Amino acid sequence: MKGSKPFGLPSKVSYSKGRGRFFQEFSVFINYYLSEGRLKTRAVLRDLNVMKNIIRRMRSWLRHLAGKEARTAWISHPLFLRHEPGVHHPEAPERIRAIETELRKQGIWNRLQKVEAGEVTDKQLALVHPRKYLRFLESMQPQKGKIYRIDDDTVMSHESLTAARYAAGAVVNAVDMVMNKRAHHAFCAVRPPGHHAQSGKAGGFCLINNIAVGVMHAIAQYRIQKIAVIDFDVHHGDGTTEIFKDDPRVLFLNSFENDLFPFPSFETVGKNPHIVNIAFPPDTGSYDFRKEIREKWLPKLTAFKPELLFLSAGFDAHKSDETSRLNLHEADYAWLSHKIIQTASMCKGRIVSVLEGGYALESLSKSVAAHVYVLAGMGKPDCAVQYDKLLNKQVTDNA
Ligand SMILES: [Zn+2]
Repeated sequence: MKGSKPFGLPSKVSYSKGRGRFFQEFSVFINYYLSEGRLKTRAVLRDLNVMKNIIRRMRSWLRHLAGKEARTAWISHPLFLRHEPGVHHPEAPERIRAIETELRKQGIWNRLQKVEAGEVTDKQLALVHPRKYLRFLESMQPQKGKIYRIDDDTVMSHESLTAARYAAGAVVNAVDMVMNKRAHHAFCAVRPPGHHAQSGKAGGFCLINNIAVGVMHAIAQYRIQKIAVIDFDVHHGDGTTEIFKDDPRVLFLNSFENDLFPFPSFETVGKNPHIVNIAFPPDTGSYDFRKEIREKWLPKLTAFKPELLFLSAGFDAHKSDETSRLNLHEADYAWLSHKIIQTASMCKGRIVSVLEGGYALESLSKSVAAHVYVLAGMGKPDCAVQYDKLLNKQVTDNA
């Protein structure tokens, strides 16, 4: 626009880039219209079109300022900080705070459409969890200041069940947003996590299987028949496996370290032929991780052609996370996110990513940042550019 005449009208105003331009254009239009007194029909119609154009651009600018045009939604809720499993428990409220701080630091925060999660309904929950199990959780809800231990790892504080209901609600909201084209992708920053929760049993820090509730909502509400769930948390997604073991509508790609909780045995095989496990031995690093994903997951994903894709996004396979002995780098999560987006382009970019594990605050926050950076369409993060160069050099040197 710089140097050209706005709307074909004579003007000596020079147009600077930025927010002021809309107001400049608007005032030039009004001044010109009033001074010339144009009444000819053609001119009026043309000028009305110009007005419409200005209004459209102003609205777009205001939506941009409000973050409403961002392609990736960030869905969370202050309640997630009020699930308090106790001092020294690794699944701590600080996890969400650390992630948000890192996203702000890296300039990703302003590129996201922020959404406050809603509460899941009993009807939506009942698609996955029997009412008897939900009544059990309600009956175990402790008083303020107390905690109730379901097992050694899984703990409920006074507001844990409410937080869990909003965590599942966040995934339902994410499904609605991507299905109704209000976002391309969504990241649900939730606690407690969900992938160890079976239909009738809590475990591994999880009360409600958030991803499973989202999957069943997508099937019930939008009649979707092909859904992929990719679980890259370092622990086996035993809860999600139990829920979908007989449901061939769900492709479940699951990677984990082989000698960790929940120590999967794979003795019970269900009727769903679309479950692909990759069990990594301790000390697996970036090269072998990427090779396995490339060979075992991506062809399955391409062949299955999902209409919607969920990610059980755990970041505890990072080399700095002491809950596992895998040696991934935050750049691996950027690589994986990119590969998933690329391979799943057949599902119109509909991706719902849900936070699971990741307990070392620094590596968790950097890994989520790398993942969300790619989801938000910001390209390849710096950490990945540098690390991938190093990885390629190592491969060349060893060849
Ligand atoms: Zn985990």
